[in-house]
Amino acid sequence: NISGQNAAMANEYFEQFVNASSLKHILGYYRGLIDNLHLRPTVFTQFYPKLRANLTSWRAKALWKKFDARASHKCYSKGRAAPNTRVLIIGAGPCGLRSAIEAQLLGAKVVLVEKRDRFSRNNVLHLWPFVIEDLRMLGAKKFFGKFCAGAIDHISIRQLQCILLKVALLLGVEVHTEVGFERLIEPQPDEKIGWRAELDPPDHPVSQYEFDVIIGADGKRNTLQGFTRKEFRGKLAIAITANFINKKTEAEARVEEISGVAFIFNQKFFKELHETTRIDLENIVYYKDDTHYFVMTAKKASLLEKGVIKQDLADTEKLLAPDNVDRDALENYAIEAANFSTNYQLPDLEFAVNHYAQPDIAMFDFTSMYAAENASKVLERNGHKLLMILVGDSLLEPFWPTGSGCARGFLSSLDAAWAIRGWGSSSRTSLDVIAERESVYRLLAQTTPDNLNKDWKSYTLDPSTRYPNLNKVAVTPRQVACLYDTDDAASLERMLKRNAVEKTPSESASKKRRRGNVDNEVLLTWLSKQLKSHEDIQLTNFASIFKDGNILCAIIHHYRPDLLDYNTVKSEEPAVKNQLAFDILEKELGKHLAC
Ligand code: FAD
Repeated sequence: NISGQNAAMANEYFEQFVNASSLKHILGYYRGLIDNLHLRPTVFTQFYPKLRANLTSWRAKALWKKFDARASHKCYSKGRAAPNTRVLIIGAGPCGLRSAIEAQLLGAKVVLVEKRDRFSRNNVLHLWPFVIEDLRMLGAKKFFGKFCAGAIDHISIRQLQCILLKVALLLGVEVHTEVGFERLIEPQPDEKIGWRAELDPPDHPVSQYEFDVIIGADGKRNTLQGFTRKEFRGKLAIAITANFINKKTEAEARVEEISGVAFIFNQKFFKELHETTRIDLENIVYYKDDTHYFVMTAKKASLLEKGVIKQDLADTEKLLAPDNVDRDALENYAIEAANFSTNYQLPDLEFAVNHYAQPDIAMFDFTSMYAAENASKVLERNGHKLLMILVGDSLLEPFWPTGSGCARGFLSSLDAAWAIRGWGSSSRTSLDVIAERESVYRLLAQTTPDNLNKDWKSYTLDPSTRYPNLNKVAVTPRQVACLYDTDDAASLERMLKRNAVEKTPSESASKKRRRGNVDNEVLLTWLSKQLKSHEDIQLTNFASIFKDGNILCAIIHHYRPDLLDYNTVKSEEPAVKNQLAFDILEKELGKHLAC
């Protein structure tokens, strides 16, 4: 029973909590709020209704309306879709927090650890339309009135973290800051204790918790062991980010932003910039946010010419190492580029400060980017299973100038939560869950604002509400057996057998197909169904499948867009396309998934 006085205090703390703009203040006011209501963060159904009943201001009610609408999605089964599931999330970046919110709504017990003590990233994230809609539906505007007002489609990383943290806390997620994840602790034989985490500091109470699911959301470095990463090497790409203080004067307000998408093709501008300043850029983006934020991709020759890079070295790591970069020259380079691109309308550019109280300017190498080979994995030791999932930058490193990081990151967070939902279901084996997760992951790197489902309001955890042409069974349970790391080979065999028994009817069909018994008409009908969105494809008879190579390429693209981009190859010669299609069919689809 909460006294009237406690309830009044809680409501006061709530107002301060909603307005707070730093990690420390958010957590401080939250503590005051829940202490007065005698609450502790716990599962959604035991936490949120009590909080909701005691916070009754119009502001609170406006938020509850949003949260209630979200929580009523069928996929959460009224907060009981993942009962008895304990989830540990590493990292309070946007994707860790977004994953925490979803896991909490599913009814899991969610604990998040963040090693930092502050949210200090001024850099600004471009938000795809679905992300804006997603955040609006979570009440972003109630916490940050200026959220995506008018045509604004970006937000500072820090501000985004603040919004998501507040949502997570109000739903009951348990958050611990200044706690770093170190490694997993395996369950021991003959002990009832399951999977735990070794943390820094080692004696932190969370090190005693047991978990069934762990989500690696700790950014590019990815501390969660056991995932292989593949590298994509491209041409040299050096990005510079710079944040200047926004004094919010009228003169500053008048300066127009530069959206990357529109600007990337403006060759005349880049030519003039080069001729006037000797700065040579491939693109530049400017967003006016809490700071004036610029991100640009600079050509190496101009960085050498302007003395930013001291010595030309082949190894990009050494090339951009602090001792080979002149910080003053780098600052001047960014100021000159910012001034030129805003027509010298931003008066007296002054650097904002970064996490380390230094001028907020940085240079990053995007020549090689990383992606995890797999999005999920299961560990089983001494009878205890652990589902491991990567999300955000840990899963797929984004190229900042195009601002895809947060959008693909959010998709991965929703997909991770979908896997957690499957994990709790008795009708699905662990292999089913990771096979589906891998099927969905194959689409992630290809996503753009244009090729996702446009009905953003209908997005749920279910991937098929978001990705058109999704094939949830593109990867089979047998193909992901190597992602099931167990000390009990028999348990894996049992699962494979169970999958085999359940799949018997379709397997016999596939055997039939291997014998070449598929009816031509059936095949043609199937193909025309799959390729109905391709108006350029003529499917008349069986022979037309091989005629111009388009059909084979389009069908591969349909199921595995990561292997072939139909739009890029369709203008090639028929023989080239057929060869390409056969090579891919043989190398990539003729064998089991590469584990
Ligand atoms: P992150 O945002 O990187 O969050 C990871 C979190 O995990 C961090 O808070 C980190 O402190 C925490 N963490 C790490 N290791 C541990 C551990 N062992 N234990 C506990 N916590 C841990 N994208 C752009 O589009 N434009 C930009 O200009 C841009 N600038 C960036 C600048 C920096 C310095 C960084 C790191 C990233 C930047 N990004 C930028 C990328 C963008 O921030 C991410 O795509 C987006 O934030 C989603 O990332 P995430 O949540 O997966 O990871």
